[in-house]
Amino acid sequence: MGKIFKSSLVWMSLGMTALGLVSCNQNSGKKEEKNVSVDSVQQKNDSLVVVQNSITKVDSLRKDSITKMEENTSYTGVKDTTVLLTDSISPRYVYLTFDDGPLNGSQYLDSIATAKGIKINAFLIGAHDKMSKKLHGFTERYKNNPLVDCYNHSYWHAHDKYTTFYSNPQTAFEDFELAEQSLGLQHKIVRLPGRNIWYVGDRKKVDLKSGASTAELLHQNGYKVMGWDCEWKINGVTGKPDLTVNQLYTQMKNLLRKGTSYTKNNVVLLTHDNMYQTKKGQKLLSDLIDSLKQHPNYRFEFMRNYPK
Ligand SMILES: [Zn+2]
Repeated sequence: MGKIFKSSLVWMSLGMTALGLVSCNQNSGKKEEKNVSVDSVQQKNDSLVVVQNSITKVDSLRKDSITKMEENTSYTGVKDTTVLLTDSISPRYVYLTFDDGPLNGSQYLDSIATAKGIKINAFLIGAHDKMSKKLHGFTERYKNNPLVDCYNHSYWHAHDKYTTFYSNPQTAFEDFELAEQSLGLQHKIVRLPGRNIWYVGDRKKVDLKSGASTAELLHQNGYKVMGWDCEWKINGVTGKPDLTVNQLYTQMKNLLRKGTSYTKNNVVLLTHDNMYQTKKGQKLLSDLIDSLKQHPNYRFEFMRNYPK
């Protein structure tokens, strides 16, 4: 009995919350609100429709209201259908980010994005683009593909001497400016070489202090500094990954479900272009994308749309 009562409360809560969303959009009166909430207790199916309809209306707005509905709804003792409902309606954003291109491997990422019809993000290195006509051609392929966004990963990649590079924030900053000009980048979005630092809007998170001042300077000059939530490493020669597709997929799914990513409902994967030189590496990525695509509420997004 207790379980049924609790379940009814949850459904009532869902129905009322849904109605609140409808009210926001349609300005409907209080009388209607009362009727619908009573109905939702008596007829679960009706409230399901109400919830789904109202979610469709706010879906594109990426409002917090859906998140709040989930937070207010206790999963304890609630039927699986409710969990499935909340899991399938709330939009969640997946950002596949590929660093260090253009490199051998970039050309396959361009093809995979097109074949799968998903948006991907390339954090490019200026010096790699200048290294050869072939690599510059890969940059052009990225830039001509509407499913690929190109961002700034510095010009020299700190010559892989990160502490030295970040010890002078001004020269580090100028290195990013050089990459921006050299690559003709449209967006002021950067990822720091060798550092998982976030600085978007007024929120920041720093993994190693030595990059903090550079991130600060970039932020002051209108750049968004992007880190990552999880990483995938695949051997470029053997195609052997550090995590299986299923392990990584589960990790990403859990970050979204538990709300433990840097920004709730958004998960950023870091991986590198040169890990997809082999057919094996390409297959792994393709399989990961297929796994993520099983969720109708998962959307592959550009980093420029990452919430502030
Ligand atoms: Zn890098």
